[in-house]
Amino acid sequence: MIVCDVDNTLADVNAVLRERFPGNAERESVCHWAPVPEGYFATPGGLDAMAIALPYPGAAEMLSTLARVEPVYYLTARPTCAAMLTTQWLSRHHFPDGAVLADCGPVRKAAAAVELGACLGLDDDPQAAWRYRVAGIPCCLYSQPYNARDFCAFTRWRDLRGVLDAAGCGDLVARAFPRRGWVVGAAPGA
Ligand SMILES: [Mg+2]
Repeated sequence: MIVCDVDNTLADVNAVLRERFPGNAERESVCHWAPVPEGYFATPGGLDAMAIALPYPGAAEMLSTLARVEPVYYLTARPTCAAMLTTQWLSRHHFPDGAVLADCGPVRKAAAAVELGACLGLDDDPQAAWRYRVAGIPCCLYSQPYNARDFCAFTRWRDLRGVLDAAGCGDLVARAFPRRGWVVGAAPGA
């Protein structure tokens, strides 16, 4: 099982928020949300921001590749009222099928990941990464200004494969990206 965050990991929600709440950019370096009013994501405006956010390039393709060998479960801090919207967004942008668990902050993410037997966490929140690692679950972070110093951060989704080994996910890499020409079960010269 791969557990994957949504906002600012798959969906560039901060790009929408930067336009709606200009002047907050300097705080983004210390906050995984661009600062917004309390409870904003359960309002019509907040739900709309999540609905219109664009996926990061290559995210759906990479996650689909991984999903061929490990199912994906989406863990998000979005409010429960955004769960259906999130499922529809993921489908619309060609992400692999997977259950969505909303209202899921870093502590709950780690607990859910342990319960699911997750082999990898994907997120943008350094606190989530820390919780995953304490729970013994490798984690890679989609690079953002507030997490760029993490040694397992990746700046482009197509580069994720390169950091999976460093995160301790060699087995997942071997299964998801088999070497070309390697035919399982065929003896040399057969
Ligand atoms: Mg996030």
